[in-house]
Amino acid sequence: AVRVRFPPSPTGLLTVGNIRSALFNWAFARHYGGKLVLRIEDTDTARNTEEGYRYTLESLQWLGLTWDEGPDNGGDFGPYKQSERMDIYADVVAKLLSANRAYHCYCSQEELDQRREAARTAGQHSGYDGHCRNLGPEQIQAYVDEGRRPVVRLRMPDRPIVFDDLVRGEITFLPENLGDYVLVRANGYPLYPLVNPVDDALMEITHVLRGEDLLSSTPRQIALYEALAEIGIGSGRTPRFGHLPFVMGTEGNKKLSKRDPGAGLGEYMERGFLPEGLLNYLALLGWSIADDRDVFTMAEMIAAFDIRKVNANAARFDPKKCEAINAAHMRMLPQDDFAQRMVPFLAKAGVLPEQPSDEQLAVLRAAVPLVQERMNALGESADMLGFLFVDDARFAVDPDAAAKVLTGDADAVLAAAAKALSDLGPAEWTTEAIEAALRASLIDGLGLKPKNAFGPVRVAISGRRISPPLFESLELLGREKSLHRLEQARR
Ligand code: GLU
Repeated sequence: AVRVRFPPSPTGLLTVGNIRSALFNWAFARHYGGKLVLRIEDTDTARNTEEGYRYTLESLQWLGLTWDEGPDNGGDFGPYKQSERMDIYADVVAKLLSANRAYHCYCSQEELDQRREAARTAGQHSGYDGHCRNLGPEQIQAYVDEGRRPVVRLRMPDRPIVFDDLVRGEITFLPENLGDYVLVRANGYPLYPLVNPVDDALMEITHVLRGEDLLSSTPRQIALYEALAEIGIGSGRTPRFGHLPFVMGTEGNKKLSKRDPGAGLGEYMERGFLPEGLLNYLALLGWSIADDRDVFTMAEMIAAFDIRKVNANAARFDPKKCEAINAAHMRMLPQDDFAQRMVPFLAKAGVLPEQPSDEQLAVLRAAVPLVQERMNALGESADMLGFLFVDDARFAVDPDAAAKVLTGDADAVLAAAAKALSDLGPAEWTTEAIEAALRASLIDGLGLKPKNAFGPVRVAISGRRISPPLFESLELLGREKSLHRLEQARR
């Protein structure tokens, strides 16, 4: 059975690259009816926090990327936080040492640097030179007597390491480029190149799908797997690897950095992206459902996902396209759902209470058809619809809009509009009647162009130059408020 993993470090930051990895693992697991394991890689203590851990879980939950085993929901292969697995790593290292698959290395940093430099000058490869591979007992004793504390290195095989990458095809690493590498620091601290494959082995991970930046560590991890299999640790089967293409920044000339705008998940949550819209866009960073199709649901992705179809070429991050894909998902939402999802954003902007009244909800629902096609993200809802809900005391016309539109003969336009609309009785207050009255008065009566006729009315009632369609907005705002605002806007 397929078992994949998502192993974030809980630093409190999830980037679009991390999320794409999580997404591809999730889609892969769901496609094959396998398991997704959430493993928290929190041994690098400095940047990891409890808050970062909670943020990671909440973010994945928000995205809807569900996991089958993890620190919160358990499973047969726990614990799922590496900080709770230190004794496991110590035990594995002891076994690797006694099987002579790993050894103590007493070289000091200065010695390593010196020899590396000399090798480089001589035009030789500059990885670890194997100095401590076969020390005799006396030499070891001498080092110990000097007070040196050893690191632990893995004994790498003296042959090429070849594997069939699920994305990139066959990849070969030559032994001269694969020096024996450090598993445990001199202070006893186990490193990523040890703990990550050890946990993959113990958790019986079958496929490792991760970013291309980790490709260079893969041959070393494969060597460690083989050593673990030999001493009976884990499933004994090396997982298949698939390295997902780099995500390049918008310019396309360098990798997207976690500090680039648009790189962190938080921004999308704040702007009110839909999880399904963001995930759809991130899926396109290396994968596509069909040549002529960009928009799909997660159910469709799961059904169609094939890691072999992931493109090895670097993908360019395109915020405009991300927005457009999200907008497409906004349009796909049922109207009631759309209204509900706007509520937290309207509440955050102080436009609606967190629990709106039935009356407010009715207006909000009625407004959905006016804005659903016009919004890229839910965070725009307060700008779009705030004018419908704020009371007159808090309603304010945007000064820039006033300066640009409420000038010249705007006053005469507003007066004529107010007059025409006040002639409509409460029972006649419909979009059609409002439109007919305004056209008759402003276009036919005053001979104005539509822009000059309706611009001032729009600014007066919505406070902005861009609003939902005008006549519908007037109907929703109601007769009394509309007439009041037209008067207020006159100088
Ligand atoms: N904790 C590592 C990271 O976040 C995991 C890398 C891997 O998938 O092996 O980069």
